[in-house]
Amino acid sequence: MAEGDRWLTLPKVNLHHHLEGAVRLETFLEYAVAYKLPIPVRTLPEAAAYLQVSDQDQSLADFLVKVDRSLEISKYPGVLERMAFEAVEDSYRQNVHYLEIRFGPWLHVTEARPLEGVIEEVLQGMARACRLYPITARLIVCALRQHAPEKNLALVTAAAKYRDHGVVGFDIAGDEAAYPADIFVEAFKLAKAAGLGITVHAGEVGEGSRVLEAIKLLGADRIGHGIQIADHPALVEQVKAAGVTLEVCPTSNVHTRSVPNLASHPIRRLFDQGVRISLGDDDPTTSGITISSEYQLLRERFAFTPAEIAQVVLAGAQAAFLPQDQKEHLAAELRQKLDSWLQSEA
Ligand SMILES: [Zn+2]
Repeated sequence: MAEGDRWLTLPKVNLHHHLEGAVRLETFLEYAVAYKLPIPVRTLPEAAAYLQVSDQDQSLADFLVKVDRSLEISKYPGVLERMAFEAVEDSYRQNVHYLEIRFGPWLHVTEARPLEGVIEEVLQGMARACRLYPITARLIVCALRQHAPEKNLALVTAAAKYRDHGVVGFDIAGDEAAYPADIFVEAFKLAKAAGLGITVHAGEVGEGSRVLEAIKLLGADRIGHGIQIADHPALVEQVKAAGVTLEVCPTSNVHTRSVPNLASHPIRRLFDQGVRISLGDDDPTTSGITISSEYQLLRERFAFTPAEIAQVVLAGAQAAFLPQDQKEHLAAELRQKLDSWLQSEA
């Protein structure tokens, strides 16, 4: 079996996947040409150069500039629906069984398309793909730390309306150092009361202590990244005691300079210390990766055994923002598929 196929056959879960960072290069190119956008994108290699990180990008801020470039097409009618459809379709092709897509609705609001319309467009695209392919996909809405608290409150209220139509979680991303958690407490309380799962980008480039703050103040069930706790045994113990799962995205962490290189990434150490670890691809287009290639890294760069890799997939299923019965059903289905995968690996 070719090495690439081997990682395609692994049944997967992906809990950390940004819609804005997952736009297909072909789709971006198509709209850049159709709308004659004043950007240097008229060929596929130019689209790649425009959307993907390069050696010149030196920080999370540089990385986010590339991610946000997808906003240059998403404002046009129907594009968000298509991006959402294609994100699910691409995940199905990577043998993802359960996917949670996240996106920042406020970033896509235009005069012609209010907040609710933005969320509905994405849900429609996801639903269209889920009717076509055997994959389960749910949506997380992302608040942004730099937005005014009222905007984040309005986002929770809008998200809660779609609780029974595919929105399952609430997240916050943005500059951890400049905007500490306490100003977001009210929004997260509302989200929890509405029955949404809580995940928080914390301990990515910011201090490990931000992770604890997210758990204690914002009620985080999961943490986006959280890798900066690795050098603080007390934090590691508290995260374990809280039963919180980290959504770890190794390649993205290198690209945002959260870690200097893959060799120094703490995923193996965190796993060995008993922290619940799930794997995500964060912004696959920006990073030029797939969720399959991230799982491949677990084996080849971090020496996870096939059984340990299966454990990571299951940890994702157990941390899914699904009702208990659906979660158990997903885990049971994955256990069976992982058993056959492990046999093929033996
Ligand atoms: Zn992220």
